[in-house]
Amino acid sequence: SPLIVTIDGPAGVGKSTVAKRLARALSIPYLDTGAMFRAIARRLGQGAWERGEAELASVLAGMVFSLSGIGEDSVLTLDGAPIGDEVRTEQVGMWASNIATLPVVRASLKTAQQALGERFSLVAEGRDMGTVVFPAAHRKFFLDATPDERARRRFRQLTDMGQPADLDELRDQIARRDHQDRNRAEAPLRPAPDAVIVDTTSLTIDEAFAALVRGVRA
Ligand code: C5P
Repeated sequence: SPLIVTIDGPAGVGKSTVAKRLARALSIPYLDTGAMFRAIARRLGQGAWERGEAELASVLAGMVFSLSGIGEDSVLTLDGAPIGDEVRTEQVGMWASNIATLPVVRASLKTAQQALGERFSLVAEGRDMGTVVFPAAHRKFFLDATPDERARRRFRQLTDMGQPADLDELRDQIARRDHQDRNRAEAPLRPAPDAVIVDTTSLTIDEAFAALVRGVRA
């Protein structure tokens, strides 16, 4: 059966960077589940969570995700179109966090994520990969870092993409999103009981990556 490694943790902790590198090292695809929530949120628009559950369910049932490529070259598509940097704003991140509280959205994405995990070995990154979606994963990691450090990392990530960013505003947005992700009823953000917890606050990317490689080999 496919090899599944899960990486969960709060916003801005550097999950994507190390997840892509780990997937490359293992020669398997990387699944960015945050991008799935973001793409759906962007597609549905700002008022999505006020729509009826039945309407949302029928819209979601028509959406098709696919995955190809390895490591940082992995390409995730929604209805045939690659999900790109257009979903990487904090605005879309907040919409994603809002719709991520809805059971109908989580159920639909869980089905799509598990279907990908049956076809491919994966490094799966998100909030509930180890707790809900892939409870039998071979290895589970939970990355953490202080809120200040995470805001700084997200700031660098956005400015590297050429997007405008304000550090104080980012700190507020990340705090609000984390609060919502940790306190929702459905699949709240928390480490799986069998996850290896890695505090990356004072680690470089290379050091965080090395900790994951050690964890996979252990
Ligand atoms: O990881 P990223 O910041 O792209 O995720 C955007 C939002 O999607 C998160 O704040 C969270 O609310 C939601 N999400 C989730 N479960 C996942 C991945 C993301 O609820 N597995």
